[in-house]
Amino acid sequence: MTNVSPFDILHLPFMNIVVMGPQGSGKSTQAELLAKKLRLPHVSTGDIFREIAKRDSELGHRISEKLSHGEMVDDADIMKVVGEHLAQSKFSNGFVLDGFPRNLYQAQNSNHPVNQVFHLKVSDKEGIKRLLKRGRADDSLKTISARLRLYHKLTEPVLTFYREKGILQEINGEQSIKKIHQEILSHL
Ligand code: AMP
Repeated sequence: MTNVSPFDILHLPFMNIVVMGPQGSGKSTQAELLAKKLRLPHVSTGDIFREIAKRDSELGHRISEKLSHGEMVDDADIMKVVGEHLAQSKFSNGFVLDGFPRNLYQAQNSNHPVNQVFHLKVSDKEGIKRLLKRGRADDSLKTISARLRLYHKLTEPVLTFYREKGILQEINGEQSIKKIHQEILSHL
């Protein structure tokens, strides 16, 4: 078969994909590669909030405070910002999303249905090792540990939620970037 787009395979008018995984799992790298391959826009809520955090506004200050401590941005801010962002017409064919949803409330209250979720599985030890190498501004051992704790407590239930819907695909995130990308594509 040639020229079969993933849209034909899924028989859906849009393809909304979520890439999930703990910090350091490579979710942004994989979301970006997948988006390019499928010619869909990539949306990283981390990038969106890092941009907002630079603004000299009430929202900017509130978000900047959360990011610097490795805490989650409040659901009210998340739902408003992400909801408005994804409502843009450029996302109507679909998107590859990373960083959202991060808790059950966000997953259950998003008005953007999801077709497919990929979970990049990486051990805490490997994730921490990779993050310390990356050295982003919010990547101290203290904030990394805080974000990992939140991931286990609040984000893992989202995996169960999608698993029960039958749209979760587990991927071993401790392989090469290329191998992970190929494995993700093989499931579409
Ligand atoms: P990330 O680049 O995905 O690691 O996100 C960086 C930071 O942005 C996180 O540590 C959170 O503070 C914030 N953030 C991004 N997405 C969300 C979300 N869906 N819910 C709450 N906070 C978020």
